[in-house]
Amino acid sequence: LPLLRGRDVSKTYVARDWLGRQRLTHALQAASVAVSAGETVGVVGESGSGKSTLARCLIRLIDPTGGQVLWSQPDQGADSALIDVASFKEGQLRPLRSQVQVVFQDPNRSLNPRRKVGDSIIEGAINFGATRAEATVLAALLMDKVRLPAEGLQRYPSQFSGGQRQRIAIARALACRPRVLVADEAVSALDVSVQAQILSLLREIQAELGLGLLFITHDLRVAAQLCDRVIVMYQGKIVEEGPTAELFAHP
Ligand code: ADP
Ligand code: ADP
Repeated sequence: LPLLRGRDVSKTYVARDWLGRQRLTHALQAASVAVSAGETVGVVGESGSGKSTLARCLIRLIDPTGGQVLWSQPDQGADSALIDVASFKEGQLRPLRSQVQVVFQDPNRSLNPRRKVGDSIIEGAINFGATRAEATVLAALLMDKVRLPAEGLQRYPSQFSGGQRQRIAIARALACRPRVLVADEAVSALDVSVQAQILSLLREIQAELGLGLLFITHDLRVAAQLCDRVIVMYQGKIVEEGPTAELFAHP
């Protein structure tokens, strides 16, 4: 059963050129995606194909121009009805945001560089109903889960390596108790060996928690390594979709 769904999601960006003429970019055209519990869905495609736009619409960082964005609802069974949040305002979205969390390529977008790691993680948990005491216990558990020492909670993000910062970003996302994690080029800035560590960590956490994982990447190798199913985008459209083994088996 899907926990996150996009139905015919479209996004047209409106920009003006230097003469003030309106320019439209049809960055996403009727894309449909579903992510179920325990499933890893990859979104691949060349630069500019619309991957990030799809991710930003699905996590409601931006308003889609058309279509439905369906999220699960907190404190309801996994088989309960999804709710269309495509045209929700931020205030309506806030209580639902725990359901779909994101890890960006740049850890500074997930973590406030001016706050101690522990405070960022604790804030995430408190935002979605944990008491401070519960959040503090959870923060220590999550550091352990992403294989960082608990002392790290007292440090700032800049005191960690890039790979460690991504682990912390994952811990912060998990503190919100999401059902779905969206990773937007989350390992793309890392060395290959560090990438492999993060991928195996993600796979382990995902299996343990039964999360849905939507994994956006321009790197086919990474998608083939991690994903059960892959969606291929080209010029704003989904042009191919299938189980990873089938998609990458072409001669
Ligand atoms: P990808 O993630 O696959 O690289 P994007 O979703 O970032 O693709 O971009 C898809 C298209 O939309 C590109 O042509 C890009 O230049 C354009 N685009 C992305 N963001 C904006 C924006 N904020 N304003 C105008 N055009 C944008
Ligand atoms: P990311 O790698 O984080 O997805 P991008 O490098 O695609 O970000 O884009 C950085 C910012 O510039 C984003 O906010 C995106 O919306 C915006 N952007 C991307 N392409 C365009 C474009 N053609 N015109 C205007 N803004 C754009």
